[in-house]
Amino acid sequence: MTFRDKVLRFFYGRYGNDQLNNAILALYVLLTIINIIKPSYTVTILTGVLLVTFFVRMLSRNIYRRQAENAKFMKIWAPAKNWLILTRDRIRDRKTHVYRKCPQCKSTLRLPRKPGVHQVACPKCRTKFGVRIK
Ligand SMILES: [Zn+2]
Repeated sequence: MTFRDKVLRFFYGRYGNDQLNNAILALYVLLTIINIIKPSYTVTILTGVLLVTFFVRMLSRNIYRRQAENAKFMKIWAPAKNWLILTRDRIRDRKTHVYRKCPQCKSTLRLPRKPGVHQVACPKCRTKFGVRIK
């Protein structure tokens, strides 16, 4: 048996990586950098726990449980990520566009920044409403 076969056999049936593990690793790297700048005993223990959790999850054979954990994480992370992206875009486009919520479906509309009162049709639900832009 070659080394490659041994490695493949070891990883066969194991969970591997997912979004939660990526987040754990990102948090580990962030805390490690903080710990280098301002060393702390608590942060050192926390980074150790994070690293062990990362490898335990990656090498786990209990795939259903790991998927359930990742699904729980994604329920929190997906809306948070969308909010972060929208906030970044709002800051980036602040001089050329305004963002307004549709009164019907609550989706966010990106409108060109033209001063005055405008009639807007929501592209999602087709509701027409007035928008005042300064
Ligand atoms: Zn709408």
